Amino acid sequence: MDARPREPQTKRDSRARSQTPLVVAIDGPSGSGKSSVSRAAARGLNAAYLDTGAMYRALTWWLLERGIDLADADAVAQAAPGCPIRMGMDPLAPTVAVGDIDVGAAIRTERVTSRVSQVAIVPAVRGLMCRWQRELIAEATSRAGAVVAEGRDVTTVVAPDADVRILLTASEDARLARRARQTHGSVDAGAIDATRDLVLERDRVDSTVSEFTSAIDGVTLLDTSHLDFRQSVDAVLAIVENSWGTAGSG
Ligand code: C5P
Repeated sequence: MDARPREPQTKRDSRARSQTPLVVAIDGPSGSGKSSVSRAAARGLNAAYLDTGAMYRALTWWLLERGIDLADADAVAQAAPGCPIRMGMDPLAPTVAVGDIDVGAAIRTERVTSRVSQVAIVPAVRGLMCRWQRELIAEATSRAGAVVAEGRDVTTVVAPDADVRILLTASEDARLARRARQTHGSVDAGAIDATRDLVLERDRVDSTVSEFTSAIDGVTLLDTSHLDFRQSVDAVLAIVENSWGTAGSG
């Protein structure tokens, strides 16, 4: 589907022509829809797309494969720098590999999803990821002219100087329903219950190290509880458009 409105594309082109890179940072909790919305927004902007959560997931997968005890923060911190994560940032077909192994499917399994926060709360891991993600953002902007990067701490830590910063939220009910539909293909009571612990517990642990529940100064809050996918993408593109307008007039 093409989520590309005419006007932002025009502004993006003029921005590319002026050689000024565009960085759009989007954070949000689990089930807020940030991955699919960010990816579609990247397509609409002809930008590269960076899924920072996939990097934490890839590291978790690799540590599990190596038999490292994830409860041992020192062992995790020591091993993490050796993980050869490779991110493909084309929003039409993003990829995640560790060395030569495509881990796109493996990192979405419950085995990884239920453990990833344990890895993400290790301070040395966060420092390492921040460094890698900044390098990828710099590389993507010099190559593609623009990048949409999404996660939990992109607006606050990884790219606090991004041109556009958005916090994508949705009510707990909406988030649970979206995740239940994704994971179980249904939103009946059983599917919601099966989803609840995984989503809420992950957010609880993640929010001890990242601020993604309220928008800090300079971050635009976008509540998608009552928006469908298309409306959410259009709302993101409108925020980008408005920010460019402001930047252009300043
Ligand atoms: O976004 P996603 O659900 O794929 O993220 C997986 C996990 O990666 C999160 O639950 C969190 O533990 C971690 N993460 C993070 N900081 C980010 C992105 C993800 O800590 N910027």
